[in-house]
Amino acid sequence: MKKINEPFTCKNCGEKNPKVEKSCRNHCRKCLYSLHVDKNTPGDRESSCKSLMEPSQTAQTGKKGWIIYHKCTKCGKIIPNKVADDDNFEKIIELSQPTK
Ligand SMILES: [Zn+2]
Ligand SMILES: [Zn+2]
Repeated sequence: MKKINEPFTCKNCGEKNPKVEKSCRNHCRKCLYSLHVDKNTPGDRESSCKSLMEPSQTAQTGKKGWIIYHKCTKCGKIIPNKVADDDNFEKIIELSQPTK
């Protein structure tokens, strides 16, 4: 599996994200938005959609830790992603609460 790990500037909030050491960053550490670039597996970069993906929900899963579910603002596809060490944790907690 091909992995891309490079610094990027968020298209949603403009945050400059440095690359992460241990994992593969695919979303903004500040607003948690992602881009719909992966088609089937994380990191394949084969999607032609390339639209912004909104963090729709987060959940804590046993061993893997926190997961963010990104929902594409254009095609509606939902992709789960692992949370990075320096992600905005307040936002993650906020998204884990059921919406009222
Ligand atoms: Zn951002
Ligand atoms: Zn999409």
